[in-house]
Formats: sequence, structure tokens, C-alpha cells
Amino acid sequence: MAGVASPTAAFPSLETALKHHFGYDQFRLGQRPVIEAVLKNQDALVIMPTGGGKSLCYQLPALLKLGVMVVVSPLIALMQDQVDSLTDNGVPATYLNSSLDFNAIRQREADLLAGKIKLLYVSPERLIKDRGINPAFLGLLNQLIQTVGVSGFAIDEAHCVSEWGHDFRPEYRQLSVLRETFPQIPVMALTATATERVRVDIAQQLRLRDPLIQVSSFNRPNLFYEVRPKGRDPYGELLRQVKRHQGSGIIYCLSRKRVGELAEKLTADGQSVLPYHAGLSDETRRENQTRFIRDDVRLMVATVAFGMGINKPDVRFVIHYDIPRNIEGYYQESGRAGRDGEPAHCTLYLAYGDVATADYLIGQKPDETEQRIARQQLRQMIDYAETSVCRRRVQLSYFGESLEGLCHQCDNCLNPPPVEDWTIEAQKFLSCVARCQERFGMAHIIDVLRGSKKQKILDLRHDQLSTHGIGKDRSVEEWRLLGRSLLHQRLVDETTDGYPVLKLNAASWQVLRKQISVEVAVPKDFAPGPAEAAAIEDTPEVAQLLTVLKALRKRLADQQSVPPYVVFPESALRQMAQTRPQTIAAFGQVSGVGSRKLEQYGEVFTDAIRQFCADYGLESDPGAGRRRSRPARERRQAVGDTHRHTLELHRQGLSLDEIADQRGLKPTTIASHLEHLLRQGESVNVDRLVDIDRQQAVIAVLTEMENASLTEIRDRLGPAYSYEDIRLVRARWQTEQPKV
Ligand code: ADP
Ligand code: ZN
Repeated sequence: MAGVASPTAAFPSLETALKHHFGYDQFRLGQRPVIEAVLKNQDALVIMPTGGGKSLCYQLPALLKLGVMVVVSPLIALMQDQVDSLTDNGVPATYLNSSLDFNAIRQREADLLAGKIKLLYVSPERLIKDRGINPAFLGLLNQLIQTVGVSGFAIDEAHCVSEWGHDFRPEYRQLSVLRETFPQIPVMALTATATERVRVDIAQQLRLRDPLIQVSSFNRPNLFYEVRPKGRDPYGELLRQVKRHQGSGIIYCLSRKRVGELAEKLTADGQSVLPYHAGLSDETRRENQTRFIRDDVRLMVATVAFGMGINKPDVRFVIHYDIPRNIEGYYQESGRAGRDGEPAHCTLYLAYGDVATADYLIGQKPDETEQRIARQQLRQMIDYAETSVCRRRVQLSYFGESLEGLCHQCDNCLNPPPVEDWTIEAQKFLSCVARCQERFGMAHIIDVLRGSKKQKILDLRHDQLSTHGIGKDRSVEEWRLLGRSLLHQRLVDETTDGYPVLKLNAASWQVLRKQISVEVAVPKDFAPGPAEAAAIEDTPEVAQLLTVLKALRKRLADQQSVPPYVVFPESALRQMAQTRPQTIAAFGQVSGVGSRKLEQYGEVFTDAIRQFCADYGLESDPGAGRRRSRPARERRQAVGDTHRHTLELHRQGLSLDEIADQRGLKPTTIASHLEHLLRQGESVNVDRLVDIDRQQAVIAVLTEMENASLTEIRDRLGPAYSYEDIRLVRARWQTEQPKV
């Protein structure tokens, strides 16, 4: 029943095609030019931040062009999710990788050659063998080219071709054979990597030919950035933070040990948590990841091993409990929040003890150059954490992008830390550095300033210095704050050979000669974050309806064994909660509701919304304004009609195709009506629709692969079984299952 290529001409505009297939009203920035180029068979290099909407850049052209789009993706786990999402949107897609058995592969190849598939995901291992195209796959490609055609190659996560990137994969490097073997087929490369060096490498390695280069801004305006000091009770603070947030969250820690401890503590405090790190078995990791993606647990405590290629668009917050190693890493990790474009929160906790640990770990690296680079990156990270200017500006400047004005979406913009004049303190500090003959590090200088009588001080006779004890009025913390601030302002230098010794520079002398004054941004005590106050609150009705709709979404997702976001993105649910669409037509207007979703879920969701409105005495949707609308009850009748009509014809003994014919609807639609009726507890005679033998085969697979997706079930059964058969049998099977 898979749709065949819809020529572009079938849609008056690309926007119409977008709405039809994916339910969205508008393109995101940068999508349209890429799609237009791909439709013209031009090569393309697409650089967009995580969540920018890269996939659509090849998915929509794949639907509009003749033939199959071959997508190379390094992450097997992600392929399954992508294909499930596409299938749920009615887009015929499949994948080939090492996780499939022989029969499944044969089945999928047959579907491809029959022209039933528009998007084929493959792993690089499947594609490349011994520096050439894997002969097994080459055969299929050639057959495809001769029959249905290949509309293009899309190389996802294209930074994997580059040794300069953070995830180099040797098979990726060999993808240039695609161009050599099939010079006529356009190639597009997509990545979220921000560095110039990698971009150039991608274009060269993949032999892109006069590509359209689309570089989007790396600014992610929906993310709120903040840094908090780790106070006396860091765990207590973290727990409060986690409780304040809603939705899914990731908490990153530096070590496996820390992950384990934190996950245990949070669990003991009643939080829904799972751990993730490279020390867990593959199986445990996979399972924990799936449970997180499906919203069975709310929090993932993880090392940086978690996240690469995890497609969970509705992560609402990312907390770094330990300092990340560099800004690029921090940007990528924190950027896993809010891929769906909805507001999300990124918090970094800073403790100087953690910085020392990170520094110590760097010192363990065998290679000196590596150490030097790592130290420099850590310093930039600390600069970011300590800055009193807009955080986004610091991030973007790191990627060579500049930001005009304030972002209003970071702690510093919302609540700038007060700047104090600390010139006198700076002079004390610097003159102490001079008295110690520029041979000591910060800790020692502070000891002298605070009048310490440590053995080391006595041995060096530093208790005799004129600066000994002149800084007793300030705490160690305050002196550290000043010392770091002087370093960041380049008012003093520090050696970088692993034994940081403070050295005076020209600017230091200007301070000592009172030629320049010194200002220090003093962090406030962090009261409950300003961000929460800034967020627009939902009205109680919206919040309540959102909860209802989320529960419904979760139930539908579980029935199909897919993550909830596959059913509807969060933004769509929010819009439903806000506008309360009660008719199928109004529901179809919601952004994120495409034709397939409308058909599949329109009824259930409008039912739930109507019910909610009835319960709370909310007659019509708030967006309706002065639009004349029929009373809710009458409307309810009208909407239910289409299903009732189908049910009536079914009860009169008509077959699925006959009902479809008579009603002028597609058989899929009729099947989805009947499935819905079944789930609503109506009696539908499945025995008459699906042969008993077939039912038994389907049930056997359902029992065996309990949480399998529709695609997986179909693969197991083979092409003789239609999705409609499976859905009907499954609906009855699931509704008859005893509830546990
Ligand atoms: P990337 O691969 O760039 O990280 P995705 O392709 O996964 O991003 O897209 C991120 C999210 O944005 C997905 O949930 C996707 O459905 C959504 N999205 C993509 N394009 C649009 C659009 N034009 N309008 C609304 N949402 C979109
Ligand atoms: Zn800002």
C-alpha cells in the first residue's frame, strides 16, 4: 500500500508537500534552498546545528523525486527510529544493516525493487567493503538504478569522514567511491559540526561537485543557558533543580563511578532515573536508552558516552554536573536539549575542585601537545563558565559567529552579575606575586596573603614578606575569584607547562602603578533560577489538557512500540492544548499533523479534547473567536459519523475494499476506522476481514516479538501480509489482552 513517487507537480508548492507528508506549515531556516537544490540534482553540503531539521532536507526531496534516496547513517539504533517515524507519517522507508537476518534483507530488497520504498537507510559497513562498494550491495544498487532509479545519496553525520572531527570512521573516508562509481547521482552531505576545517574536509573527501553550501546559524534560541556554582550541598541543589523541571532530562557526569552514585541517590529520592556509561553491557545500555526515549523513565544520568545519535527531540533539560572538557563538547551535549524547537534548559555546575580534577586528568595524558591543547580548551571552558557577558555570545564566538545585542536567554543577560571595583585587592595580589619572585602558583600566593603559617611558608621565609597577611579580610574563595578574573582579563599570566606559576606582564605593572583599575564580576548567590520566572506559564486548562494529551500519546505509542514523539511532537500537543480543536478539519490545521496522522489519530485526539471540554465546561476552542460554531454535542455527532458509517457498512457484511469503494475512501482509511472502533470497544468482526490462518501467523509474531514495531512485524511476516491486516489483528489482540 506504499505510496509511489508523487511528482512535484502534484503539489502547488513545496509548503503543501511539507504539510501533506510531515504536517508542518513552514520550512525552517535553510531547508528550502537545500531542498530546491536537491530537486535540481545539485550536490549539497548542509551544516545545521542539532535540531535544525537536517533530515527533512533529504526526506522531502526523496518523496518528490523519482526513485530511491539512499541515506548513509552511522548509527544502527537511529535507523530504526527514523524508519519508524517515517512509516508513521506514511512515508515508505526501510533500512539495511547488520542487525537483520537474511530473510528480512531479502524481503526489503524485494520491496525496494518493486518501487515500494522511497528512502533506504544503510550503514557504512553495509555499503563499503575492502575500499570499494560491497559487492552484495553494488548488485542491489545497479538493479535499482536500472529499474526504479536512485534519486541521490545522502550522507548523514558527514563529519565522520574527517580525522579532524570528533567521530572519525574509516568506512566513511571511503565513501568517495560512491562518486567514482556513480558519477551521475547527486550526493548531499549533512552534519552538525561547526568547525571550518571539518567542513572543508567533507567537501573534499566526498568529492562534492559545485555543491550548494548551506551553513545555518549555530544559535539555538530555544535553549536557556545558565551556570551555577556548586555550593555546599551540590546534590541537594541538583535534586531541587531536577524537581523544578518538567519533562525528560539528561545529567552528565565526568566518570562512570559518579554516574552510578548519582543515579542511586536520585532513585532513592524518588526520581525516575537510569544510568548510562560505557562500563554497562551493550544490552543494558540499549535497554536504558530505549526506556528513556519512550518516556518510561524521565532522567538519564550519563557520561558523554550517551547521546551521540540519540534522537529524542523532546529532552527538556541537560545538566552538566561536572565541567565538560571543552566548549565544542559542551555545545553538542547541551544541544541535545530541545531539538524539537520547544523551550529547554541547559545548566552547568561549576566547582573549582572539579576544575582541579579535570586538570589532573589532563596531566595524565602521555603526549605533551595533547596536554597543552586540552589545558587550553579547559581554560576556554572555564572562561565560559566564569564570564559575566552573554553566554551565547561566548559560545557563538567560539564558532566564529557573532551575535548582535543580548540574547535574553541566558542567566547573564537576564540578571547581569554586579561588577565591583577590586583595584586595591588586585594590587595586593600582584605585589605579592612580585614579592614571591614570580615563582609560585595561585594557592601559595593566597596562603601568603592570608597570613598562613604553613611549614612551606616558614621554610621559604615568606612569613617575612611585606605582603604576608595583608589579605586576611578576604576568604580564600574571594581571592581565587580575583586571581581567575585577573587571568581572564589577561592582567596576569600563568605558565602552561603543567606547573602553573603566576607571572607579571605589562598590564600587571599598569595595575600596580595605578594606571588601570580592575573590575570583577561577583557572582550572586543563586536563588531559584531567573529563567523559570521568565518562562511563559501555561494557563491551568492548557496545562491540564496537555497532561491528558501526553498520556494519550504515550498509550498510543506503547501500543505501537514507538517513542511518543513519533506519534506527535511536543509542539503539536501544545498547540492542541492551546487551541482545543474539536473537529477533524480544525485538528488538521495543527502544525505537525500531516494527512497520515490526521487519518490515524484525528479521531482519538479530537475525542479526548471534546471530552475534556465537556468535563470542564469549555464549550468551544479558544481560537474560534467569533467564528460561528455548532454546539459541541452536534459536532461530536458529525465527527463520529464517518466511523459509524464505516461500522454500519461493515456490519452489513461489506468487505474492506467494498466499503472503501462505496465511501470513496482509501482502504487504509477504512482499516484505520475499524482499528479505531476496535480500540474504542466496538465489536468489529476481524475474522471476516482477515483469514484465520493469517491471524494466527500475526498473533504468533506478536507474542514472540512483544514490543516490535509495525515495520518489524511486517518484515517478519513478509509481503503477503498488509499493514492493514497486521493493524487489525493487533488492535483486537491488544484490546483482548488482560490488563496487568
Ligand atoms: P537534526 O537532524 O538537524 O538534528 P531533525 O531532522 O531530527 O534535526 O529535526 C529536529 C526536529 O525538528 C524533528 O522533530 C523534526 O520533525 C522537526 N522539524 C524539522 N523540520 C521542521 C519544520 N519545517 N517545522 C517544524 N518542525 C520541523
Ligand atoms: Zn545572553
